[in-house]
Amino acid sequence: MDGLARATAAHNAGEGPTNNLLRALRPADLALLRPALEPWMGQASTLIYRPGDLVDYVYFPCGGALVSFKVTLEDGREVETALVGREGAVGGIVSQGNLPAFARAEIQVAGAFLRLRLTALEAAKRESPALDSLFARYADCLMAQMFQAIACNAVHSIEQRTAKWLLAAIDRTGADSVALTQEQVAGMLGVGRSYISRVIQAMKARGLVATRRGGLTVTDPQGLGALSCECNTALRRHFDEVLRGVYPRSAETRRLARLASAPRATR
Ligand SMILES: [Zn+2]
Repeated sequence: MDGLARATAAHNAGEGPTNNLLRALRPADLALLRPALEPWMGQASTLIYRPGDLVDYVYFPCGGALVSFKVTLEDGREVETALVGREGAVGGIVSQGNLPAFARAEIQVAGAFLRLRLTALEAAKRESPALDSLFARYADCLMAQMFQAIACNAVHSIEQRTAKWLLAAIDRTGADSVALTQEQVAGMLGVGRSYISRVIQAMKARGLVATRRGGLTVTDPQGLGALSCECNTALRRHFDEVLRGVYPRSAETRRLARLASAPRATR
């Protein structure tokens, strides 16, 4: 069964969505949205929105799907402004109603999504103040992510930002590996491929990451965390205050939980 068939079957069976924002809804509020949620499969490099596109759907990444918001400059360079996975949603979250997109929303890691017409979301918000409040709180977290990205892009080194970005990706996908090429990482950070290649080689030499065809594996999340700037931690702290339980567990927390639950003989 492919990802879409699996997501559709889970949705039709009434199983809870694997998107943390939808999971945070009260059952009555999720029931309001459920008839309008459509399973949708997103392939890597698909542009969900281009600047100027009418934003008519909100997309909820499920499982390991990842989307980035990028701003394209006149000289063709692109800079990543935010990464969204299972903790969030893409499209029409900050605005009310259908407005044109400002940034490019591009799928970085393929996966299943649930999508919802904005008209259905707006109707549900009018019906339930609790649902309206949850999405307003997510909009606040997304704004916090943008503010942090401005500071990060201005001040933190490429090495720190690469470490931050890899950890942000694996926290969201819930796996130690992420299907991203070095070109994609370079594109996300708005720097040259050869520069990123040197940074990743240095991380490999220190045993922090391993490379494989078409992907990267974080082998030492704690070590990579020490190299990273504080930006993921600052964002996690804000999510924990505003939307407790929605930001995914960190790779390091997952690793410690695995160790704690492993049978003694295999430790
Ligand atoms: Zn930073």
